[in-house]
This record gives sequence, structure tokens and C-alpha cells, in this order.
Amino acid sequence: MKNTIVAKFGGTSVANADAMQNSANIVLSNPNVRVVVLSASAGVTNLLVELADGCDQEKRHYVIDEIRRIQYNILDTLHQPNVLRDEIDRMLENITMLSEAAALATSPALTDELVSHGELMSTLLFVELLRQRDVNAEWFDVRKIMRTNDRFGRAEPDTHALYELAQQQLVPRTQEAIIITQGFIGSEAKGRTTTLGRGGSDYTAALLGEALNAARVDIWTDVPGIYTTDPRIVPAARRISEIGFSEAAEMATFGAKVLHPATLLPAVRSDIPVFVGSSKDPSAGGTLVCNKTEQPPLFRALALRRKQTLMTLHSLNMLHARGFLAEVFGILARHNISVDLITTSEVSIALTLDTTGSCTSGASLLTTSLLTELSSLCRVEVEENLALVALIGNKLSSACGVGKEVFGVMEPFNIRMICYGASSHNLCFLVPGENAENVVRALHSNLFE
Ligand code: ASP
Ligand code: MG
Repeated sequence: MKNTIVAKFGGTSVANADAMQNSANIVLSNPNVRVVVLSASAGVTNLLVELADGCDQEKRHYVIDEIRRIQYNILDTLHQPNVLRDEIDRMLENITMLSEAAALATSPALTDELVSHGELMSTLLFVELLRQRDVNAEWFDVRKIMRTNDRFGRAEPDTHALYELAQQQLVPRTQEAIIITQGFIGSEAKGRTTTLGRGGSDYTAALLGEALNAARVDIWTDVPGIYTTDPRIVPAARRISEIGFSEAAEMATFGAKVLHPATLLPAVRSDIPVFVGSSKDPSAGGTLVCNKTEQPPLFRALALRRKQTLMTLHSLNMLHARGFLAEVFGILARHNISVDLITTSEVSIALTLDTTGSCTSGASLLTTSLLTELSSLCRVEVEENLALVALIGNKLSSACGVGKEVFGVMEPFNIRMICYGASSHNLCFLVPGENAENVVRALHSNLFE
């Protein structure tokens, strides 16, 4: 499937009938778009997560009515809304039943089953909308091919199984029709529904792109590409027209919200360019993330990640000892925690917890059992409400003068932690949360404007 494009539309691009029509126009404007991956309509996943957390009857009715309103608003604009009404109603009944169960006892598996209805409904609506425009579109349940492990809420895909299943079941369908399928959801070996973590639809699109040997993955969202930093913080931020995989991956990891951090893994692995653009204004262009870019600049972008937790572990036993780090990392690994930044001194380690691609249920990483286990080894100190500012660039660790330029700008700010040197693509600061935006503004105006 050499020329195939997988196009993904995020929640705002399928939020209502107008947004869906714009997205349909984009799909139809390029005959190579054969597979379309959708998020749930904006807001629906959040509402479903509320239900999955368990709420009383009154709240349940209110939340389900809200979901019904969002989906009916789209349904009612179709020429023949009743073709689909029964099916949407059946989904809403399922949601009701599952949310009653969640009110009695929540579980990660139940949460995933419940939240999957957002993507199931948006894809049903989109297929019908295309059909009523005389397009040969077909609904495809991605759970038939998106095989994952059973880590509900943040499941990991089995890419080999996905490849085989996609070749057998999806490829033949793309020759017949435009396939509309769900982002974010999958299924484990026993057939139970799983999810890839919040924002996981981008990841789904890239995984399907890989499994189909696609020529490109297009991510349609509500911003026309990737910017030098968040334009809401710095209005002078500029759009980047072309960016390398590794720089874009650093940006996604360090908080640029445009792409889910895992999206670029399959893209890099299989060398599939990823385009990011706005479905509201496709003619505005966007950013192409690809293998090579011309003359990558020293400073490329600034990413900001809020709500960071810094954990400092003190142990006198660490003095001249061996194996302390191994023990700490062993504990973290058993608790499924991935460490982000790290610095060490003679008797202590400071590290931040990786919260990217957070769990669908929104559960905190710092559990009492983790803290208890760590406390048996060392003294644990936890600081919250910090922010991570990452300067993304190229050859940062081999260029001269980077420190002077950057630290000069940081003069008025307290820096809680610095990481530099492990990657030539980033220099990270941990700063107090309340300073974060000013740090970004100062760095942007000095290094990018
Ligand atoms: N609907 C899911 C979410 O809101 C997945 C996605 O939008 O990518 O997290
Ligand atoms: Mg999204």
C-alpha cells in the first residue's frame, strides 16, 4: 500500500457537525487517504472518565444527557438521522449500564470499556455522514487488529500481531472503501477492551500507518502545525514548517501538546513522515515531521510541561556504595514508573517522574505503596508543582557558548534542577510552577526572536 495515507482527526475536528464536515472535506480532497482514525468528539472522553470514576445517580443522568446532547447534535444534522439513531441509543444504553456498574465498583478494565464508547460513537457518526455524501465509507472496529497487553488505561500494542492482523483484515477493506476506525482503543488477548492512555489516537494513527506501510500519517488537530513554543504563552511563536523526528519526539515528550509522545516511535521506526495541520484551516499548511530537515538550527523550540513531581532520595549508605541506584530503579520499575530527569550527588538522587501519556483513569503515579517501599531504603522527599522547561535543538551538547547564552537569560529565575548532556537535542530546567511562563517568554524572546 505504497501511497496510502492514514489521516487522524482529533476531538475538536469531530466535535460537531461543522467540524465533521470540514474533516470529511479533507478526507475527500486526497484519494490516497484510505484509512481515517478518529478521536471521540471533544469533551466526550472526559465525561466518560467521570462516569468510570463512579458517580451518584443524579450526576450520572446529567453526564449521560450531556454525552447524548453532543452526539445527537451531530446526528440531527444528517439527512436521514434515524438510520443511526438506534445504534447511538444502544451505545448510550451500554454507557448507562456500565456507569451503574462503575458506581458500585470501579476497575481499570471497566473504565476502558466505558471510555471506548466515545470513539465508537464518533466513528459511527462520521461513516454515516460520509455515506450521506455518497462516499463509499466503511466502519471498522480497530479492536479486531489493535492487539495490546492487558495493562488497562495505558496498554501497550503488540506491533507484530497488529501487522499480521492489519494485513489480513484491514488491507483488503481499504481497496473497497475508505475505512473509518477508532483511535485510542484496542483489545487484549481475551478480547477485553483496552486503551492506550489519554490522547492515544495519534499513536493509533502512527501504529496503523506502520502496519499498512503507509506513505504518510496526517494528524489533523486544532492548530496549524508545531510552533517554536505555545503561541498562547508567546504570541510571537513561529510555525516550524519542517522538523526532524528526534527534535519533534523531544518536543512531544517534553510537553508540546500537539502530538502524543508515543506517536513518533512507529514513525521513526518505519520512516513514515507525519504531517500536522489544522482541520479548520487546511490551506494554512502545517508542519512536516520527517527524517531529514535542511540545516537544523541550534535552537529549535521550547516545550513546557506543568505539574511535575520531583522526588529526592537521600541515603548515607550511598556513600561509596554500589547498587543503590539499581535498587531504587528496581522499585520504580516494579511500580511501572518511568523516570524522566535525573541528577545525582554523593548521598542523594533527584528525579522527576514521567507522566507523559498518562493513564486513562487519571490515577496518580505516586502511590502509598511506592513511597513505603522507597522509604524502607532511604529518606524520601517529594516536591510538587514544579514545571519543566525544555529547550529543544540540535548539537546542543557539542556547540560552544550554549551555556552562556541560555543561563544569562535565566538569571532572574530560580532553577531547581538542570539536565544537559545526555541528548544533543535538549537542555531541561525544572523551575517553580509559577515562574514557568515567564521563563518560556524570556528564553523565547532572547533565543528565537
Ligand atoms: N479520546 C481520547 C482522549 O481524549 C483519545 C484521543 O483523543 O486521542 O484522550
Ligand atoms: Mg485528543
